[in-house]
Amino acid sequence: MAEFNSAQFIWSLRQGQDPASHDIAQFVRGLADQTVSDAQAGAFAMAVCLRGLSGQGCADLTLAMRDSGRVLQWAVDGPILDKHSTGGVGDCVSLVLAPMLAAAGVYVPMISGRGLGHTGGTLDKLESIPGVQTALEQTQMHDIVQRVGCVIASATADLAPADRRLYAVRDVTGTVDSVDLITASILSKKLAAGLGGLLLDVKCGTGAFMKTQDAAEQLAQSLVRVANLAGCPTTALITKMDEPIAPAAGNALEIDASLRVLTGLDHGSLRDISLDLGQELLAHHMGLQPDAARQKLARVLDSGQAAETFGHMIRLMGGPSGLVDNWTRYLSEASVIQEVPSPATGVIQGWNAQALGEVVVDLGGGRRIEADKIDPAVGLDQILRIGTGVTRGQPLARVHATRIDHAQRAVAKIQAAVDISNDPVSHDGSLVLARIT
Ligand code: URA
Repeated sequence: MAEFNSAQFIWSLRQGQDPASHDIAQFVRGLADQTVSDAQAGAFAMAVCLRGLSGQGCADLTLAMRDSGRVLQWAVDGPILDKHSTGGVGDCVSLVLAPMLAAAGVYVPMISGRGLGHTGGTLDKLESIPGVQTALEQTQMHDIVQRVGCVIASATADLAPADRRLYAVRDVTGTVDSVDLITASILSKKLAAGLGGLLLDVKCGTGAFMKTQDAAEQLAQSLVRVANLAGCPTTALITKMDEPIAPAAGNALEIDASLRVLTGLDHGSLRDISLDLGQELLAHHMGLQPDAARQKLARVLDSGQAAETFGHMIRLMGGPSGLVDNWTRYLSEASVIQEVPSPATGVIQGWNAQALGEVVVDLGGGRRIEADKIDPAVGLDQILRIGTGVTRGQPLARVHATRIDHAQRAVAKIQAAVDISNDPVSHDGSLVLARIT
């Protein structure tokens, strides 16, 4: 076989030629072992962005990236399932869903990420609980999954290392938003977790990366096709992200919101969508009728089993043992809490959810550069939902900040992010727009 030449490979991609599987594998090995330079990685990403890959090419890239590191294996007596969300605001579904599924007999080894742009990250939220460690060794992950049924942890250095390298290059070369590259990036990490099945929650709307349902469906179809080609049975739900899912956005505030659902204090959208996603997983992978799946999940929530599972997982990850009984004792609180008065009387027609996410980052609840330190206490809560009637001056939400001037700036941005008028608002309540198989 002719010796592999990275420059020639990139040139052929640039010409729109379909790459051979073994060439993709060679290039990805070079990403992981650094024999491919940053310039070549950037040129590769740009060629894929501009010319695209075939379905097979995207699957080959995904599998090569999965195999650039270790692939986890599990010896458990039940299904190993997970869900992945493409990211939103107030999206703390993983914190409710993982323990709920585990309490229903599923094993959930969830590899999660940090905040990206205006969206929050599950790891950052978990780390707002004192003592919690998310950088776990594989032996610890195995131990926690065996004992509790679920764990939420960061990717270890040996999990899909080629993706880590390529992602860092994409971030600085304007090549993040390629459906092929996003597909390979997300799935390489998920497939390396050794899953038996996956559900993708592809968000669309003002707070999502995909602003339209068409764009979300295009990404969902690519993810579902490649994951299934790779041997991981996968479906996707397209879900609305036009307002925060929880009534809160911010790290400790979303732990509070999740615990309120887990302990039965909140029956709102966060509970509903957690049940929607859990139902899809149990129905698709465990052969349950959708209604029976939903009832099973509602039972583990209502009985407190899911909350107990969450508390057990947190304890094994280094957190306090009494968290679920009295979490406000452990979560840090911001020194300034200020209400956001509604600028008008009428019905909330919409939120610019991305702007709300950006307010959280401005307050210090997210990162602008990788080295930024996160303030776990800041953010928003008591956010009113679309369709709520308000009078001028009535609070739309509360801001949690470290300084009064930060809070005042946030108030003005939140007031600019809401659309209020007297038009009727029609929405059927469900956040699920479509199912992709
Ligand atoms: N999340 C990932 O892990 N990769 C992407 O490319 C985009 C979102």
